[in-house]
Amino acid sequence: SMASPALLMRVVASAYSVAEKAATIVRNVMSAGDLGIVEKAGPNDLQTKADRLVQKSICASLARKFPKVTIIGEEELPTDDVTEDLIEDGHCEEILKKPCPAQYTGIKEEELVIWVDPLDGTKEYTEGLLDHVTVLIGIAYGGKAIAGVINQPYYNYEAGANAVLGRTIWGVLGMGAFGFQLTEAPAGKHIVVTTRSHSSALVNECITALNPDAVIRVGGAGNKIIQLIEGKASAYVFASPGCKKWDTCAPEAILHAVGGKITDIRGNPFQYNKEVKHMNSAGVLATLRNYDYYASRIPNTVKESLVP
Ligand code: AMP
Ligand code: MG
Ligand code: MG
Repeated sequence: SMASPALLMRVVASAYSVAEKAATIVRNVMSAGDLGIVEKAGPNDLQTKADRLVQKSICASLARKFPKVTIIGEEELPTDDVTEDLIEDGHCEEILKKPCPAQYTGIKEEELVIWVDPLDGTKEYTEGLLDHVTVLIGIAYGGKAIAGVINQPYYNYEAGANAVLGRTIWGVLGMGAFGFQLTEAPAGKHIVVTTRSHSSALVNECITALNPDAVIRVGGAGNKIIQLIEGKASAYVFASPGCKKWDTCAPEAILHAVGGKITDIRGNPFQYNKEVKHMNSAGVLATLRNYDYYASRIPNTVKESLVP
């Protein structure tokens, strides 16, 4: 039919283009060389010029098109100084052509909450671990993460000058996820991916209890979900507060769209309504397959140390 596309698909199609613009800003700030680093809570909680510019770009661009949607970004910034060069008004035509899952066709702007992490993996960005960095735009409805866009601005950066730099992964529950090759982790191996720069005794105690064959320590919640869906790791385990709703919303939508599962370390699902507390105080447990295997091996002492 010639009916106009459902709101959800228009939001995802716009978020795709907005995330690509964000990736350009992330690369441009790095190549210009002045990161403008500001400490937030401390030396492991940083904000750069890229975090600031990208958040303004994403939030202002989406707010202009979808004025009644609630948009929550990580950075606390003035919203009145967004210059026109930061606005992206394009959308991905291919996404708009896909049918919206029936259960989401009636969604209204007022019912959507968009969680924005303008730059996930800031610590690693400042240290030159560029492929750890992602831009996260998560879309929630009824408290659930239902769609998401993950842009990886430096995907392929170690593959040489001829490789195409950057990629955009997106997904919608009931539709699937696109922009990558879904790959199973090695069968029979337990490979845990966890934080690189926010470890603690409890984080390590929890991983030790799982007796993994290997542990991968990398930055970024978005990056760690990519490790799961591309078969590099079998479980993302983070027994600590620190991750926020904007870290998990887009990754959750994409992981769930391909049949994976993410909860806090105690097995509780995350909520994404606009009133929710931002901190994921009880940590993160995520897998593409065999969620129950990992969940059943988290020690009770670890669960009891993390209060939701
Ligand atoms: P990581 O796996 O350490 O890269 O953390 C994933 C996300 O959660 C990133 O956005 C981090 O900034 C955030 N995060 C995790 N732990 C902390 C913490 N202790 N303080 C501040 N941010 C944190
Ligand atoms: Mg983050
Ligand atoms: Mg961030």
